[in-house]
Amino acid sequence: MRLSSALVSGCRNLCRQVADGLLPALCVGCSVRPGPDLCAQCRRHLTPLLHPCPRCGRPQREPLNNPRSCRACRGHGWLGISEVIVGWNYEGLLQGLITSAKASADRPTMLTLATLMPAIEAQASIVPVPPAPGRRHGPHLATVLARHLAHHHGLPLVEALRCRHLAAEQHRLNAGDRRRNVEDLFVVRRPVGGTIVLVDDLLTSGATASAAALALRRQDADRVILAVLARTPRSDDPKSGWRL
Ligand SMILES: [Zn+2]
Ligand SMILES: [Zn+2]
Repeated sequence: MRLSSALVSGCRNLCRQVADGLLPALCVGCSVRPGPDLCAQCRRHLTPLLHPCPRCGRPQREPLNNPRSCRACRGHGWLGISEVIVGWNYEGLLQGLITSAKASADRPTMLTLATLMPAIEAQASIVPVPPAPGRRHGPHLATVLARHLAHHHGLPLVEALRCRHLAAEQHRLNAGDRRRNVEDLFVVRRPVGGTIVLVDDLLTSGATASAAALALRRQDADRVILAVLARTPRSDDPKSGWRL
């Protein structure tokens, strides 16, 4: 009996592998048009973050020249982070893809999301914001994004941080409580010098990334740049001219 179920399982896996080899991968956005990356129609549903402030990531109606920071943050940005690089608004199709990739630890969707990461220009070590302890097995989105960036730019990937404990859910807290919630959340297990590009999937309050950056700065890091896939929109963001 055990042998026959193993045979059935083996045949099923073999059939799946044959099908994967024979059939073209589909777009993870619509599951209809060819993939594996997002098809042109699905890409049109993404909203790029236009002219983000390089200190805090807030979108602007026009590029910032001098000073290169917005009136909202006045150059202060996030503690420990010298620059923010962010690609997209966290809404619509992209929000759905990020949510489902994280909920089901879906590697094909994560790999597609990795192709949407903004480019970086610095010579730096790439460090992902690490997973919380106790999360279930499977790929971790920020780590997949960081690995892609490192490979794409020929830069070293260093999994330098460890998360000490599970923080309370940030979106339920106000700004002050968010900072306290993540204080001492990260420990540096491999000190890294020079410039670091810290990689995460989402920028919301900035408190988690700031705590990770401060932990790196307390060790050997000279400068931390935050690179994120998407930013959670705020009610006071400029509204016009976002869609491609
Ligand atoms: Zn599509
Ligand atoms: Zn700003």
